Amino acid sequence: MPKPHPLATSSARQPNPCLATPPISTVPDNLGVLPVFAGPIRPHWQAAARAKGFDIVARVLDRYHLRLRCQTCGGNMVSKLYVVTSSCPICPHCLTARRQATANAAGVNFLGQDADRPAYGFFRADCGHTLRRQFEIVERAARGTTGLRCEICLIRREEVEARRLGWQRVGNDTGRSGYYRLYRHRCGHVQSIAPVNMAWGQCDCAGCGQSWSSRPSFIYLFDIRLPAGAGQAARHYLKLGYSAHPDKRHRHQLGLPPGAEVEVLRILPMPTGHAACAAETAAHRRLTRAHPGAVVPADEFAGVIKVTREIYRPALRAVIEAEMDKIEVGADAGRLGSSAAGPNDTMGQQPGEDKDDMADDRRPTARRTRPDRDGSRHGAA
Ligand SMILES: [Zn+2]
Ligand SMILES: [Zn+2]
Ligand SMILES: [Zn+2]
Repeated sequence: MPKPHPLATSSARQPNPCLATPPISTVPDNLGVLPVFAGPIRPHWQAAARAKGFDIVARVLDRYHLRLRCQTCGGNMVSKLYVVTSSCPICPHCLTARRQATANAAGVNFLGQDADRPAYGFFRADCGHTLRRQFEIVERAARGTTGLRCEICLIRREEVEARRLGWQRVGNDTGRSGYYRLYRHRCGHVQSIAPVNMAWGQCDCAGCGQSWSSRPSFIYLFDIRLPAGAGQAARHYLKLGYSAHPDKRHRHQLGLPPGAEVEVLRILPMPTGHAACAAETAAHRRLTRAHPGAVVPADEFAGVIKVTREIYRPALRAVIEAEMDKIEVGADAGRLGSSAAGPNDTMGQQPGEDKDDMADDRRPTARRTRPDRDGSRHGAA
C-alpha cells in the first residue's frame, strides 16, 4: 500500500481512490502518446480498476503497464498492473487539484511537487517568492493553525530593521537554541540578538555602547527568607541573578514583603552587563536542566518576590556556587568580555526581571565599586 498522503486525511472517510501520494509507477498520460502493448485486458483487472475508481483504457509500454482513466476527473494516467490488482492507484490530476485547493486555502499557489522529496512541494507566495514546504505544513496553514512565512521577505525585513539602528544582519545564530540572529554593529562588534528586540530597538552594542550592557555588572547569589504569613509557612529560597547594583536590587527591586530577610551570599564582578547577562542565563539553563526539582515554581512566590524565574531551593547552594566558580574563572580570564558573541550570548534576551536593573544602569551613574561580601544579613526594604 502506498503511504497515504497528508492531504488525503481529511477525506479519509470517503473511500476515494485518489487519496495518496502516487506510486512512482503512476504518471499522468493526458496525451496518450505511450505505445500500446498488444495483449488482452483481463476482466478481473478491469473489475479491480473499477472498484478503485478507474477504467482500464489500454495496455501500454510493456506487459506490466496500463493506461487508466480516472472516473472522478476523466484524466488519463499510466499505472503498473500490480498497483491496480493489489494496491490503489492514485490519480495525479485529482491529487494536484486537491493540493491546489489546499494551497489556495493557505494563501499560496501550488507550483508542483519536489521531485527529490515527495512530501514537499513548491508554492508561490503573495510576495512573488517561491516557498518549499511540506504538504502537511500547507495543510495546517489551510486550517489556520500555522502560517507560511516567506524567508526571503523575513530576511529583508530584518535587514531593514537592523540598518535603521546601525546594525548589519549577518545571519542566523546557529550556536544557540531559540530565535536569534547575529548582527554586526557599525563599530564592528558582532552580537547575538533576538530579531524582536532589534525591531524594538532593544539592541545596545556591548562593543561600544554607553548602555547597561557595556558597563560593569555583578552576578549575585541571595539567600531569601520570607516570614510565615496568613495560611503560609515561612519560606527559604536562593536567588541567582545579575545587576549593576545588587545591593539596590534586593532592597528595592525584589519587592519583598516587610519582615523578609535577604543575605548576600556571594557577588561576582563582571566586566559588562552583557557578559553578566550571558553568563547568568547560561548558568540558569544548566541548573534548570540538571536540577529541575530544585527550581521553585513561579506560582509559589508569585506576589511575594518580583521575579518570574530563577528561584531555587536552598539545597542547591553548593551546585549554584560551583556554577559561580566557573563564571568567575571565565570572567577573570576575560573571555566573557570578548567582543565576539559566543553561543551563550544572551544579548537581546533581557530577562524581564532585570529590566529594572537595565533602567538603573541607563542612568549616568555607573559605579565600579565592589559590593559587600561580608555575608551580613539585611532587612529588606
Ligand atoms: Zn482524477
Ligand atoms: Zn517573499
Ligand atoms: Zn558597537
